[in-house]
Amino acid sequence: MATSTAILLFGLLGILLLVQCQQEEVKIDDGKERGQTGYILDSIPAEEVYTVSALIERANQRAGQDPGDPEVVEGDIAVPTGLQNADPCTARGCKWRRHGKKGHVYVPYIISNQYSSHEKAVIEKALQSFAQSTCVRFTRRRRQRDYIHIQSRSGCWSYVGRRGGGQVVSLARRGCVYHSVVQHELLHALGFNHEQTRSDRDLHVRILYQNIIKGQEHNFRKIKTNNLGTPYDYGSVMHYSRYAFSANRQPTIEPIPNPNVVIGRATQMSATDILRVNLLYRCK
Ligand SMILES: [Zn+2]
Repeated sequence: MATSTAILLFGLLGILLLVQCQQEEVKIDDGKERGQTGYILDSIPAEEVYTVSALIERANQRAGQDPGDPEVVEGDIAVPTGLQNADPCTARGCKWRRHGKKGHVYVPYIISNQYSSHEKAVIEKALQSFAQSTCVRFTRRRRQRDYIHIQSRSGCWSYVGRRGGGQVVSLARRGCVYHSVVQHELLHALGFNHEQTRSDRDLHVRILYQNIIKGQEHNFRKIKTNNLGTPYDYGSVMHYSRYAFSANRQPTIEPIPNPNVVIGRATQMSATDILRVNLLYRCK
């Protein structure tokens, strides 16, 4: 008797939860943002809307299509025209240089005057966050040859690593000026790739190709990354969310063995992201 009551209760609870989920989805469908943002809000659940990869995906629907913009692959990685991929380059000299007595790594930057003072403050805060936990120092450019030029172009994107000379980090005013997104793009500029492109990712996630938007499968390629001996991190600010590039509201990335583990919800650099910066740049 007790068992059947329990089953009945669980059943009711299940139905209640289901109804609640459906209500949330309806709320999103009817939300005022729908017209502005296009397909992305339609294809992911409410709680995933502000994940780094959803923000970037939403902002990047036209990325790389403006004249003068580089080609953008893997969601937000800029590649020089003619090259089809952005390989890890940190072994070949695309790290930023370390100098000075304290062993700091200086990354000179310019912020475009396109931004409002509030937007500038968000960007500056993310730039300075690296100084709190790593030896990387983003400093205003004076006359240094190599630097990053933060501009509002079409979407959020960055090259991987130092390219020599001035290099654009695009943070579109509409959609990219969030602490997590700024840190994410800066990590690309420092030489890091997306977490789920790691060479060993198949041990940690399953890619559900049947749910990916047709033509977007390339976003889920694997790269021969240097993992610096650090563990795979679902909480990395470089990890895509469960519904990245989903065509049908179904997950595109599922953690294994436990599919319920939270992935891609970081709102700032994780401890592992910080550790990797410190390892790659040999911070003391
Ligand atoms: Zn990215």
